[in-house]
Amino acid sequence: MRVLVISDIHANYTALEAVLKDAGEVDETWCLGDLVGYGPDPNMVVEEVRGIKNLTCLLGNHDVAVIGRIPFESFNGGARTALEYHEKVLTTDNMEFLRSLPQNLKVREDASLVHGSPRDSVWEYILNTLSARLNFDHFTTPWCMVGHSHLQCMFRLNEANNRVTLEPIRPGELVKLKPRLIMNPGSVGQPRDRDPRAAYAIYDTEAKTWEPRRAQYNIEEVQKRIREARLPEKHAIRLMEGW
Ligand code: ZN
Repeated sequence: MRVLVISDIHANYTALEAVLKDAGEVDETWCLGDLVGYGPDPNMVVEEVRGIKNLTCLLGNHDVAVIGRIPFESFNGGARTALEYHEKVLTTDNMEFLRSLPQNLKVREDASLVHGSPRDSVWEYILNTLSARLNFDHFTTPWCMVGHSHLQCMFRLNEANNRVTLEPIRPGELVKLKPRLIMNPGSVGQPRDRDPRAAYAIYDTEAKTWEPRRAQYNIEEVQKRIREARLPEKHAIRLMEGW
């Protein structure tokens, strides 16, 4: 089975479209959360995701906030401004769809799926080998797919010496998967690894391979809509530089 793995779309419809086109035919799509937050297109993104066949979709921290389960005060000023805008413009149907999604870890095939981390599904960032090491004790599958940090990366646990390493990965290069791993497909709509292209991954459940990928999209078009919606200028600038 060929699985498209996406995360952190953040109301960036143009980036999502580019990824869906670039990925081609897939059997399933797994989305690790944060459909909304930051960007200008919350309704278009939620509607597009709702229409994806064979979808498994989790909630991220921004989604959990927009449906009213955590206060906007937990977010910094710019993120909060976008959430207030999204809460106002999201249609009832799109809100209902978000409310129907799970926020806890879900197991699919050999993979645990979660937005933040296995031990804190919504909030914890896995940014380094230390936080990765602590989290290997909190899932039982060979690999775990996480989002939230917006960094396309992969951590490996060597069970012989109990050490965790950050694996070198390159977009377009296939990784043969061996237990145990934590991998992040990166962010579709707001990459923070200094590569502004939309990030995602293709997971092959039989071949047990993971291919991190990047797709070019029209960033100016999204910046224009961010400014039209009077969202923070920072959200527009960062897209061009990928942080
Ligand atoms: Zn996010």
